[in-house]
Parts: sequence; C-alpha cells; structure tokens
Amino acid sequence: IEIDARELDRIRELGRGAYGVVEEMIHRPTGMIFAVKRIHSSINDESQKRMSVELEAMKSGCCEQMVRFFGAMFREGDVWICMEVMDVSLDKFYRMNVDLHQRLPEPFLAKVALAVIEGLNFMKEKMELIHRDIKPSNILLNRQGAVKICDFGISGHLTNSVAKTVNAGCKPYMPPERIDGESKNAYGVQADVWSLGITLVEISTGTHPYGRWKTPFEQLKQVVQEPPPKVDRSIGYSDEFHDFIAQCLIKNFVNRPKHTQLLKHPFLVKAKNDTSFNMGEFISSVLRVEEVKEEKFLQNLNMNGE
Ligand code: ADP
Ligand code: MG
Repeated sequence: IEIDARELDRIRELGRGAYGVVEEMIHRPTGMIFAVKRIHSSINDESQKRMSVELEAMKSGCCEQMVRFFGAMFREGDVWICMEVMDVSLDKFYRMNVDLHQRLPEPFLAKVALAVIEGLNFMKEKMELIHRDIKPSNILLNRQGAVKICDFGISGHLTNSVAKTVNAGCKPYMPPERIDGESKNAYGVQADVWSLGITLVEISTGTHPYGRWKTPFEQLKQVVQEPPPKVDRSIGYSDEFHDFIAQCLIKNFVNRPKHTQLLKHPFLVKAKNDTSFNMGEFISSVLRVEEVKEEKFLQNLNMNGE
C-alpha cells in the first residue's frame, strides 16, 4: 500500500529519541496501526531521493528479526518513517527489571542475542546492509515473544556519526575502530557485533559499562584505551554467556568474530534449541507488573485530587 501522511491520525506517543518522536498512528482508509517516527531533517531533495530508493528496497526485503517497514514520506522538511508497532524497547524493558530488583534470565539474554545476530546476518547477506546503530533502544520486543531490530537503513543518512554522539550525549555503543578514525574498516560487520556486546553488558548488569559521570569525550577515550568491559562473574550466568561477550568485545576488529561465526557459538546454539523458556510469557509478565504499577499510581492521583 501507499501511505499518505495526511491520512494518518495520531493516537499516542510511543517514545522520544535525540532526533525526533515516535507516535502510534492510525491510517484512516485501512484502519491499520503504525509506529511513525518523525525526524526533523533539513536534508536536500537529492539525498531525499537517494534515501527513498534505499528505503523502498526495505519494504519487501525483511525477516522475522527486523521490525516491518511500510514506507517513508517526506513532509514539510520532516521524514516520516512508518513501521510495525511493538510493545516495548529493550532499554525500557531492562530498566523495568532493575526497578523490580530482578536480573534478566539468561535464556532471555540468549534469545535477544540470537535474534540480533540473525537479523544482522540477514541484512548483510540479503541486503548488503550494516546496521551501525545497535543499542537497547533499537531492539524491540512484543508480548508474543518476538525480538526485532529497528532503525536500519536510516542510520547512515541521519544519525550516529561520532560527532553527533558527542553532541547528543549518547552512551557509546560504537567500537574502538570507529572512534580511532584511521581504519577504513570502521563500518565492517564487526562494528555491530561490538555494539551487541555493549548492549548485553548493559542489560545484564543494569548499567552501561562506560562511566556514568564522565563526559562523552572521556567515554570515547575509555572505549579506545581501556580493556573491553565484561560482566562480573559474581552476578552469575554461564561460562558460555561470559565467553560470548568476550568474543563480541574483542577490541581489534580483525580478530572479532562475524555473524556467521557467532551463530556457531554454544551460547547461541543453546538459545536456538531451547524450547523450555517462554519468551512471550516472560515479557508479558514484566509488562503486566508495569501496567499494575501505573494503574495504582493513577488511582492514587485521583484519590489525592478528591
Ligand atoms: P532512540 O532509538 O535513540 O531511543 P528513536 O527516535 O529511534 O530514539 O525512538 C524513540 C523511542 O520510541 C524508542 O526508545 C522506543 O521506546 C520507541 N519506539 C521506536 N520505534 C518503535 C516501534 N516500532 N514500536 C514501539 N515503540 C517504538
Ligand atoms: Mg531508535
């Protein structure tokens, strides 16, 4: 279908990022519900066209581990990106678990890692695309237990340069080779593998590994100069988990494994064969607790207002 921005009505806000807002919208003619990301951009007509062509290709080529993409529109200098609505992003989800004082179960971490690597592998093999912006907020979950990556294809155009990272004050997920500058291979597939490693450390420990109190510049220096982050053994998890992270976070990208190699890692092989852990049930249960908390909070507000 072709979507016209004028036929979209806003339902509610789903989230906000450094470059714009994501809203749930209904497409009046069809009743379809989309997540629409609006990015304010002053890109010229020529790069709009180039971006359109690239995005158009992604309407068809998609896999289970990628958020479905329905099209992009340019309106009043803004880019509107239409995609499938998911229930929660991984950054919000892991913080809910921190609030509940519970660690994410290893089978959950393994299923997330597997989905991200499978999605990235599909993008590379079938679309010759590297993501470049893997981080918890670009990994989305739903109550059915699906794990999908989003924001592929636009990162090269609009976001995620080193300069922007420093300006936007984002936490660094980028690998040493991208900060160091010299390397021509800064955009190799291994860049995404590093970002997945940082993501796994963050969601399993509950904090981003690079110093919270440091300036963005100091954090980037840490990425290049310090030994790679790891998860403290004392918090648990299997040897396979710790080894998988160590592999993802090999500082020299030449030695860092690519997707195809990682798919053979015991941590992911186990995840693929694991039928005992119910991902959908786990995600639903955490979201349900959050809903109950919200309801109670609203009830309290009402009572105090009376
Ligand atoms: P960032 O990824 O840097 O947080 P974005 O603008 O890409 O910024 O997204 C903002 C937020 O919107 C995300 O953190 C996520 O919680 C939410 N979001 C994005 N896409 C979707 C989607 N398809 N379904 C549900 N929520 C989404
Ligand atoms: Mg995003």
